[in-house]
Amino acid sequence: MKQATDQTKGDNLMANTVHDPVCGMDIDPATAAGTSEYKGQTYYFCSAGCKKSFDKDPEKYVAAAGSEHEHHH
Ligand SMILES: [Zn+2]
Repeated sequence: MKQATDQTKGDNLMANTVHDPVCGMDIDPATAAGTSEYKGQTYYFCSAGCKKSFDKDPEKYVAAAGSEHEHHH
């Protein structure tokens, strides 16, 4: 008989951080200064300035990030 180990208390080292596509910073979505949705994907920004830059030219940042590390869901 197998007994499942109850590990509901996982460590939080792998916090759910996201990549600011403009400056490249790793930020916590909960504390992001702004978000933008582009092509069905939500992007998070460390500051309003980064969001503004992204909104001005999203292709530039999305293309750069996508070619480096692609994630398909
Ligand atoms: Zn930023």
